Amino acid sequence: MRSTKIICTIGPSSDDRKTLEAMIMGGMDIARLNRSHGTIEGCREKINSIRNICKSNNKCVALMIDTKGAEIRTGVIAHPVNVKEGEEIIFSSFEMHDDKRSVIEVNYDRFYADVPETDRIIIDNGELILDIVKINKDGSVIARAQSNGSIGSRRHITLPGADIDLPSVTDQDWEDIAFAVEEEVDFLALSFVRTADDVNKVRGFIKEKGGSIQIIPKIETRQAVENISEIIEVSDGIMIARGDLGTDLPFEELPPLQDEIVIQCRDRGVPVIVATHMLESMIEHPMPTRAEVTDVAHAVMTGADATMLSGETAAGNFPLKAIEAMSRIQNYTENHLSRFPRNYEMPVHNEREARAEAAVTLSESAEASLIFVFTRTGKTAKEVSKFHPKKPIIAFTDSSSIQRTLKLCYGIHPYVIPFTDPESTVTEAFKTAIKYELVKEGDDVVLLSDIEAKDATVSSVQVRRFG
Ligand code: PEP
Repeated sequence: MRSTKIICTIGPSSDDRKTLEAMIMGGMDIARLNRSHGTIEGCREKINSIRNICKSNNKCVALMIDTKGAEIRTGVIAHPVNVKEGEEIIFSSFEMHDDKRSVIEVNYDRFYADVPETDRIIIDNGELILDIVKINKDGSVIARAQSNGSIGSRRHITLPGADIDLPSVTDQDWEDIAFAVEEEVDFLALSFVRTADDVNKVRGFIKEKGGSIQIIPKIETRQAVENISEIIEVSDGIMIARGDLGTDLPFEELPPLQDEIVIQCRDRGVPVIVATHMLESMIEHPMPTRAEVTDVAHAVMTGADATMLSGETAAGNFPLKAIEAMSRIQNYTENHLSRFPRNYEMPVHNEREARAEAAVTLSESAEASLIFVFTRTGKTAKEVSKFHPKKPIIAFTDSSSIQRTLKLCYGIHPYVIPFTDPESTVTEAFKTAIKYELVKEGDDVVLLSDIEAKDATVSSVQVRRFG
């Protein structure tokens, strides 16, 4: 049973029923629908399709909507502008003409005001980098290309390190968040978050609309990195969005930063996703590069809860092979790690976490095959997941929505059962475990559950032998 979770972005390569079904059967834990592309109606169709396939195959896949966020983009142009190394280009937020230089329109009228905070303009993922030469009095900006390249319509522009004067959540984002609430999706990935207050505002809005979606800020700007502790504190999960983060910061800063964010999230018991370019070459090729294999393994070794596929499953030629490759790397790395002692340095912050840690320690000393957790809100299961037990955490809940949110967390395999009195609930859990062939006669199982004491229900950690 794989412990690290897989998030797959759904796009033209994967939105037909046959491929979606194969992805669900192949191990996709969470389907990500990116609102940077396509219509709301198209998004609704994908949601319905995934839900229908899950229902007919008795599978549980969570849904994540990813907002577009405040981005600077080039305007619409009839043909891409080819640029030569050393050539000067003008970037302008208004229509203009220059006799000597090509003019690229930008969708942001305070572009000139943010440009002084950087020295470069990066197009897309670094396909073209231009050095800033001059800001003209009229607000247009002259920049010189570092290499040959081209600039097309609606290309993403980064001003590395600059604090962009756009709102963190745009009008389109608010509409998409309202849509996510209406559709009762499980996770909201929030693009270009800068502060904890951005997250709090979105949570307030979701609550006002009567929703309870889990909020996953995407860490992709220098400001978010500077405020990371406060952001983690108010979030339900964190996505390390390495694509944009690697253009906003010097790319060599990315590896230690990724590890540091993973450590901070684990310390706080907040699930963390490592995203972007994990198996990028598989967009074109059926086999990953060895560096990509090592990157996925590194994310597992450092304790990420989930890794994410973007273009690989949304627009690539091999979406199913990409999931298979990611799953194989995760499984192999987890097996390798199981030979070593668990990380005993993981801090315990309160009595609940102490109980969770005790259950994990007990599972090791009793050589239990599974840890059963009974959880109404998902909290107890997440507390156990924080300590990355070597054995699977079978989480029993009475809510299918909590079941789906637990799909993000390391090591948790969630099932829905009715909750009655504590002992009958345990019996029901064992029945479910037999049905799914999770236990066999003679297995020891650690249980985190409530038991009836003299005149109260108290929480307990116990070992039970099955059969
Ligand atoms: C990223 O930049 O790494 C990312 C996940 O964001 P998006 O794919 O939405 O650009």
